[in-house]
Amino acid sequence: MKYYDKLIFELSKPGRIGFSLPDCFGLASEQPRCKAAIWREAPLDLPEVSEVDVVRHYTNLSQMNFGVDTGFYPLGSCTMKYNPKINEELANLPGFTGLHPLQPESTVKGALAVYAAMDKALAAITGMKHFTFLPCAGAHGELTGLMLMREYHMSRGDTARTKVIVPDSAHGTNPASAAVCGLDIVVVKSKADGLVDVESLKPLLGPDIAGIMMTNPNTLGLFERDIKEIAKLVHDCGGLLYYDGANMNPLLGMVRPGDMGFDIMHLNLHKTFSTPHGGGGPGSGPVGVSDKVVPFLHIPHVSGFHGNFGIILRAYAYILMLGREHIRMAGKLATLGANYIKESLKDCYKLPIPTVCKHEFVFDGLLEDNGVSTLDVAKRLLDYGFHAPTIYFPLLFHQAIMIEPTETESLETLDAFIAVMRKIAEEAKADPELLHTAPHNTPIGRPDETTAARQPVLKYD
Ligand SMILES: *Cc1c(COP(=O)(O)O)cnc(C)c1O
Repeated sequence: MKYYDKLIFELSKPGRIGFSLPDCFGLASEQPRCKAAIWREAPLDLPEVSEVDVVRHYTNLSQMNFGVDTGFYPLGSCTMKYNPKINEELANLPGFTGLHPLQPESTVKGALAVYAAMDKALAAITGMKHFTFLPCAGAHGELTGLMLMREYHMSRGDTARTKVIVPDSAHGTNPASAAVCGLDIVVVKSKADGLVDVESLKPLLGPDIAGIMMTNPNTLGLFERDIKEIAKLVHDCGGLLYYDGANMNPLLGMVRPGDMGFDIMHLNLHKTFSTPHGGGGPGSGPVGVSDKVVPFLHIPHVSGFHGNFGIILRAYAYILMLGREHIRMAGKLATLGANYIKESLKDCYKLPIPTVCKHEFVFDGLLEDNGVSTLDVAKRLLDYGFHAPTIYFPLLFHQAIMIEPTETESLETLDAFIAVMRKIAEEAKADPELLHTAPHNTPIGRPDETTAARQPVLKYD
């Protein structure tokens, strides 16, 4: 263990401080001005350390984590594309950061103009009519969108529509949002080629169906080629189509959900439009609607205190930077990169669906596994300095490894990743134990993930 791997509490020495200020106003001895009843009985147990210890503590902590700024992050379904630093610079302009949400409207016209411009830009990219910027995440957008769907049916007196159809490959938030919205979920099966089975869909459609939730390309990274027929079937039965836009990346500038027949959708600005995400930080899941749903959009179109405005700004900077001609390169490069990795590794890893993919694809474990699991492969990747892909999702396969390289990676990085994945496949044959016990050189090895998530130890005892 390195000296600075110690907790900051373990470095503490009574009386050591990181600053000294003259007591100009005699404040040090002044009694607190709040009610005595809420005074602390004992001083707060804070570590007592010097400035250099604090700096090293935080700098070392920051290096124990993995981020898209430290390495390749092929986390399928999450679109961990690099976030250009110019987004940060623009979002950090003092005219934006100094805004107060309670300022008079006449003094925040610039910020409101950004919302209006984003509404236009996203409408152009998606083929929707208008967007609301209220939802703060993709799942929040799904719930908002489903509530709009319900409003639409209610307004027509169509109160029997209580069910929503969700494909078996759907992201878990889709059925979860439908359940929170009070809708019942009907699952439609996928065919062996990974696409929604139109024949299985037909008998599910009827006067009790509020709509269908789909993502396209779907969670396997495959474009739903029958989408036009699906849209017609759902509309003919009186339902609406909801588009989960988390997979919009490969379609940017190429194909629009509005043209596919979708009525309501969300975008994950924090995925597709390159604003930082992960770790539960701020996000933005604007919801777009077609003409017939526009009357049900709530007013105002932003949430309390104008939503996560910083995220909107970053996405706006990204869209402006690429512009109409270049934005379509993002999806093409993401698709090219994913297919390149897939084809380069399919002789070592099981590829359950061998067709051309969009921005991501799924392996189902090693070709010759020798008892080596997908978890072992993911953990071993960390030893080589790559973030692990998404694993054990989607649930259609038992050893799923879902890889999404994104368009921001160079050919050299993709080649380095491919070489390491091949090396791990060799190691799995020669020395499976090496993989069972990986990772070997990260600060933490294999925590019990359930306990770590449910009973995290977050304070020094
Ligand atoms: C990430 C994701 C979501 C949920 O988005 P959040 O912003 O994490 O709430 C929904 N659907 C798909 C396909 C996703 O990848």
